Amino acid sequence: MNLFNSFIIKTVPHLPKWFTKPFAKPYVAGETTEEALKNVAKLNQNGFKATLDILGEHVISSSFAKNITSQYCNLYQRISDEKLNCTISVKPSHIGLNISYSEALENMELISKKAKDLDNFLRIDMESSDLTDQTFKLLNECKYITKNIGVAIQAYLFRSLEDINTLADSDFNARICKGIYKEDSSVAFSDRSDIKNNFMSMAKSMVKKGSFAGYATHDQELIDELLNWIQTEKIPKEQFEFQTLYGVPMNGRLENLINEGYTVRIYVPFGPDWFDYSIRRLKENPDIAKYVLKNFFRNE
Ligand SMILES: Cc1cc2nc3c(=O)[nH]c(=O)nc-3n(C[C@H](O)[C@H](O)[C@H](O)COP(=O)(O)OP(=O)(O)OC[C@H]3O[C@@H](n4cnc5c(N)ncnc54)[C@H](O)[C@@H]3O)c2cc1C
Repeated sequence: MNLFNSFIIKTVPHLPKWFTKPFAKPYVAGETTEEALKNVAKLNQNGFKATLDILGEHVISSSFAKNITSQYCNLYQRISDEKLNCTISVKPSHIGLNISYSEALENMELISKKAKDLDNFLRIDMESSDLTDQTFKLLNECKYITKNIGVAIQAYLFRSLEDINTLADSDFNARICKGIYKEDSSVAFSDRSDIKNNFMSMAKSMVKKGSFAGYATHDQELIDELLNWIQTEKIPKEQFEFQTLYGVPMNGRLENLINEGYTVRIYVPFGPDWFDYSIRRLKENPDIAKYVLKNFFRNE
C-alpha cells in the first residue's frame, strides 16, 4: 500500500464527521429515504436493478429494532408506489438478533409479510459466523410467509459449501460473497485463492441444485472466471445475476455486463449511520480517497 493510502486509512477515522463526509459520499446513497430512492431511480434508468439497505447493525434496544423494522416496511411501500426495480436487504442484528432470536424473528416476519403483500423480494444479509445458524433459521421460518426470500452465504467460511448442500433446492436464492467479517482460522479460509475457489464451487453447486445465485463481487478476475464458466456451460441467465456495492469503481465493467444481457444489481446502503460503513469501505479501497480529493471542490 502506498504512503498516501496508509496515511488516509490511519487519519480519516479520527477526523470530524463533517470532514469525512466527502469520503463517505461515493459509497452511501444519502442519509434520507428520499435521497436513496432518487439514487435507485437513477440506477434503474441506467439499466441496473438495486437492493436497499438501511445502514446500521447490532441494535440493543427493542424499540430501535422495531423502528428499523417499520422503516423497512415503509421502504417496501415507497418502492412499490414509485415502481422501482428494487428489493431490500436486511441485517438480522439491525432488527434485534443481538437482543434475542424471538425478537429478530418477530421483526423479520413483519418485513416478510410486507414483502409478500407487495410482491417484492427480501434478502437477509449474512453477518459474523456466530450468527450464521440463527440467520438460516430466520430464513427457513420466514419462508412459510413468503418464498420470495433469500440469504447471503460467505465463501470464506469452511461450512458454506455444506450449507448449500443442505439448504439449496429450486426455491433457494442466495447471494454468494467472499465475506467481510474478521473470522477465526478455525472456521474460515484466509487465503485469497482458497476463498475464490470456494466461491466458484458454491456457484456451481447452486446451479446443479436449480437455485438462483447473486454473484456479489468486485474482483475482476473472479468475474472473468464466472463468465468463462457461465458461457462454457451455457448457464441460463435466469439462474444468476451479478451484484456490486454502490460506489465501488468498476471501470465500465458493469455497463459491459448489462450490454451483454446480464443482470446487475447494486447494493445501495443509506441512512444516518453512514460513518462506520464508509470508513470500512475506505479501508478496503483507499484509492477512493484520491477520486474524492480530486472532486472535493466540485462536490461540496
Ligand atoms: C452486493 C454485495 C453484498 C454483500 N453482502 C455481504 C454480506 O451479506 N455479508 C458479508 O459478509 N459480506 C457481504 N459483502 C462483502 C463481500 O463479502 C466482500 O467482503 C467484498 O465484496 C470484497 O470482496 P470482493 O469479492 O469484492 O473482492 P476483493 O478481492 O476483496 O476486491 C476486489 C477489488 O474491489 C475493490 N473493492 C472490493 N470491495 C470493496 C469495497 N467494499 N469498497 C471499495 N472497494 C472495494 C478493491 O479495490 C479490490 O481490489 C457483499 C458484497 C457485495 C458486492
